[in-house]
Amino acid sequence: MKRNVRYTIIIPVYNEEAVVHETYRRLTRVMEAIGEPYELLFVNDGSRDRTAEIIEGFAESDECVKLLDFSRNFGHQIAITAGMDFACGDAIVILDADLQDPPELIPQMIEKWQEGYEVVYARRSKRKGETLFKRWTASLFYRTLSALTEVNIPLDTGDFRLIDRKVCKAMCSIREKNRFVRGLVSWVGFRSTAIEYVREERFAGETKYPLKKMIRFSMDGITSFSYKPLKLATYLGFIISFASFVCLVISLCLKLFTTNAVAGWSSLIACLLLLNGVILIILGILGEYVGRIYDETKNRPLYILRNEQKVKNLRSEEVIWSVQQ
Ligand code: UDP
Ligand code: MG
Repeated sequence: MKRNVRYTIIIPVYNEEAVVHETYRRLTRVMEAIGEPYELLFVNDGSRDRTAEIIEGFAESDECVKLLDFSRNFGHQIAITAGMDFACGDAIVILDADLQDPPELIPQMIEKWQEGYEVVYARRSKRKGETLFKRWTASLFYRTLSALTEVNIPLDTGDFRLIDRKVCKAMCSIREKNRFVRGLVSWVGFRSTAIEYVREERFAGETKYPLKKMIRFSMDGITSFSYKPLKLATYLGFIISFASFVCLVISLCLKLFTTNAVAGWSSLIACLLLLNGVILIILGILGEYVGRIYDETKNRPLYILRNEQKVKNLRSEEVIWSVQQ
């Protein structure tokens, strides 16, 4: 098994034909300057445009370029996971294709890694060119998540980070289906540090994370790392039972000791609607967890590769071992 690669850069791509040329150019420039063997591992997440063809074009003339081609769109987090399964480097960097995460930061990350850190996060000190809504919801999400979970997930970091081979191996042994990679990296532990950077605007094209995907992603984050939403039912149950008991006592007293008994049809309806609403929300939360349990029991593979035959020999042996566990 070839293990002569020092650095692996994982780049998930989904309909990114407008940016891949520039991404490839800038990454190559940075990596050539470092001067050690590297591989650019592109993971095509079922793009419907010419992204895969373009990358195959790079691979023809440059043996550092490798392509994992998914049979359909499996999602960003799964694409990163596939990249980790096939990564051969001693250090692995995960990077978005749209150049919002500047490749020029890689040497700085490597420096930290050489100092002995096994995970180097890139924390966004500023986010350029993203809507107020996106920045606001992202910030709310990171804060809710850290309030709900015991795992210490660093605030305002994306998936742009460098991980040591040891961390990658540990990550590969986790085969859960609804993956929240940045949470899992914190979960596996190891020594970590952060570097700050300004998140640039997308180089070209538009975001591949519409609101629907963002909601799903945040639900994955919360449900994979916290049971607290499930406890909501218990807390609310207690509060509502106590409040209705008080109401009951008051209305009984009114009936027994005064003449103005409550006629209240509308208050009855209001209570009913409120309670039904609460019950439905809680059922929904239960459903989120049950659905995820269902996903786990089906035990389907995380992704299917179109070019399985071609990349079979790329998969490192230790990963095959841990996947089979
Ligand atoms: N991406 C992917 N599969 C998807 C959605 C996105 O592989 O289903 C990739 C995309 O090509 C990009 C990265 O994930 O390289 C981050 O996506 P994007 O920049 O659209 O997200 P944003 O930065 O807007 O949150
Ligand atoms: Mg982006």
